[in-house]
Amino acid sequence: MPLLGCIADDFTGATDLASTLVRQGMSAVQVIGVPPAAERQSGGSPLPEADAVIIALKSRTIPAAEAVAQSLAACEALLAAGARQLLFKYCSTFDSTDEGNIGPVAEALLKRLEGGFAIACPAFPTNGRTIYQGHLFVGGALLNESGMENHPLTPMRDANLVRVLSRQTEGGVGLLPFTFVEQGAGAIRHEVTKLREAGRRFAIADAVTDAHLMALGEACASHALITGGSGIAMGLPENFRRAGLLPARGDAGALPEVGGLAAVLAGSCSRATLGQIGTARDHLPVLELDALATPDAAALAGQAKAWMAGRLEAGRPVVIAASAPPDRVEALQKKLGRDAAGALVEEAMAEIAEALVAAGVRRLVVAGGETSGSVVQRLGVRSLRIGAEIDPGVPWTHATPDSAPEGMRLALKSGNFGARDFFLKAFQ
Ligand code: ADP
Repeated sequence: MPLLGCIADDFTGATDLASTLVRQGMSAVQVIGVPPAAERQSGGSPLPEADAVIIALKSRTIPAAEAVAQSLAACEALLAAGARQLLFKYCSTFDSTDEGNIGPVAEALLKRLEGGFAIACPAFPTNGRTIYQGHLFVGGALLNESGMENHPLTPMRDANLVRVLSRQTEGGVGLLPFTFVEQGAGAIRHEVTKLREAGRRFAIADAVTDAHLMALGEACASHALITGGSGIAMGLPENFRRAGLLPARGDAGALPEVGGLAAVLAGSCSRATLGQIGTARDHLPVLELDALATPDAAALAGQAKAWMAGRLEAGRPVVIAASAPPDRVEALQKKLGRDAAGALVEEAMAEIAEALVAAGVRRLVVAGGETSGSVVQRLGVRSLRIGAEIDPGVPWTHATPDSAPEGMRLALKSGNFGARDFFLKAFQ
C-alpha cells in the first residue's frame, strides 16, 4: 500500500519527485499514465508496491477539462491502492495559463478529497526557485523577468502567484508568508487554521530555503492534499516515519540486480549530451548516425543493427547517437520540416532500442526527453522503480517491459542533465 500517492503533470517532473522521495528514505515507483479502470477493477490494484507511487501524466498544457479528468482518474487509482495522502506535482516555475491547468486540477482534487484547504508551493531553492511574499523568483530574477515570460506554451507574465492562482480558481487564495514559515511547523499550522477560518482554500506558501520546505512538509502532515514542486515533498517522508508507518530504509533506492549487455542511445542534441558523446568517444565504441545523409528511419536503424552486431560484449557499453550540432539539425529540419525531422529520428531510436533489447541489452541509458518517451513507449514500459541517482535528477530505474519481462535497467536523461562523463559514470 502506498503511503503517499502523487500525480505529476509531466514525465521528467515525476522522476524528479520520485528521486527526491528516495533520497528522503521512501521507496518510489513511477507509473506511466493512469492504469485503465477495467484493469484495476478486475485484478485489484495494478499499481506496483512502494512507499510512494507517482503517476506521471502529460497534462501540463492539454485542455483544462482533460487535465482534470486524467488527474481525477489518477487520484481514484491512488486512493483505491490505499494512499493516505496525495501530492499534486507541477513545475517549479508554476507553468500554467489563466485557463489552467494548476488551479482547475488542484480544485478538483481538493473537492474529491474533501480536503478543504491545500498549500501551493513550487519553491525549489536548490535550483534557484524561491518564493517570498507570494512572488516567485528564478535565481535573482522575478518569474516574469526570468525568460519564462517568453515560454511558447505557458508564458509566465506575473510573478505574484497569489494573483496567478486566483485567476485559475474560484477565489479563496491566500498567502502563507515568510514570517510564519520561518518560525517553523507550529507557527505554520496556526496560520493555516486562520487561513481556513478566513475562507481560503489555497495559500501560496513562501519558502526560500530547504529548511522552510521541511517545516511546511511537517506542518502539512494531516493535509489530504499538498500541491507544489518536487521540493515540497522533502519534508513528507519524515511525517510517515514519525507516525510509525514508514520503516527506516537505508536502501530506499535498492533495485533488483540485472545482468546483461549495456548501451547508450542518444537522441538529444543539447550541448550537454554532445559533450557527453565527445567524452565517451575516447573510451567506448561510438556509432554516430547521420540523419541528414540518411533521412530514413528504417535505414538508420538498419545501420545501427549492422554496427552493433559485432560490438556488443559483456562489460563494455556501446553508444549509438543521432545527436548532431545545431547547423546539421537545422539542415534536416529545413529539408523535412521540424516535426517530421524529430519524428524520423525518434522512430529510428525506438527501433534501435527494440533491437538492442532483443540482442540482450538490459542496462540502457537514453539521452533526450522526447527520445526517452518514444523508447519507453516502444519497449512497452508501464512503470519504473526508482533507484539511486547517477547525477542530480537522473536515477537508474528498474522496469519490466513487455520486451524484457525478466527486468531491465533504464536511465532516462533529460538532454541537458548530467556531467561530461555521464555515460561512463552510469555503468561504474
Ligand atoms: P532534449 O531532452 O535535449 O530536448 P529530446 O529527445 O527531447 O532531447 O529532443 C531532441 C529531438 O531532436 C528529438 O525529437 C530527436 O528525434 C531530434 N533529433 C535527434 N537527432 C537529430 C538530428 N541529427 N537532426 C534533427 N533532429 C534530431
